[in-house]
Amino acid sequence: MTPTETARLVALVTAMCPSTHPEETTAQAWHLLLADLDATDAWTAVIRLGRQRHHIAAADIRAEVRAIRNERLARAPLPLPDTDPDDPRRYRAELLAIVDAIASGRRIDRAPVTPADPPPRRSDPKHNVNSKRDLRTRSLRVPCPWCGAAPGGPCVVPRLGIPLRNAPAHEARLIAAGLANSGRERAGKDTETQ
Ligand SMILES: [Zn+2]
Repeated sequence: MTPTETARLVALVTAMCPSTHPEETTAQAWHLLLADLDATDAWTAVIRLGRQRHHIAAADIRAEVRAIRNERLARAPLPLPDTDPDDPRRYRAELLAIVDAIASGRRIDRAPVTPADPPPRRSDPKHNVNSKRDLRTRSLRVPCPWCGAAPGGPCVVPRLGIPLRNAPAHEARLIAAGLANSGRERAGKDTETQ
């Protein structure tokens, strides 16, 4: 957001929440707090918040923008990067770029994960559950509690730092991402620790 856009946002909040009494420095302070946000998303966030509450703080706007971005990401599985997963640094960089493009709404296409994969059929929920590639993609949204891989980074063999080849992710990460039941946890910790 530019300072002008932030000032407009403060004006909108003031108009929506009459109890807000902005100081002269409010727009400046909010700009420090919110400058990295997309102006359109921030505007949408304020409107959504204004429907629910009487007071809106800068932190509320940031949280709502995050929710807006997560909603975009949640609409469908992420497409996989074209980069070879054996090059984890570039793979992660491309994946993060894809995540950001979709979260920001700049990219809305949802190309099939690979040409070889049949498109997921809505009538067949097992397809999503069973596709290892899809599991890997979806598990990347959360950090791995087992190997410590950050969101967007593939699970790695602890200490060696080699990305997993066979398993889509460590079981603990699949559970954390809601892709597996904790009842399967016993199998998790020794999954492909090599
Ligand atoms: Zn892991």
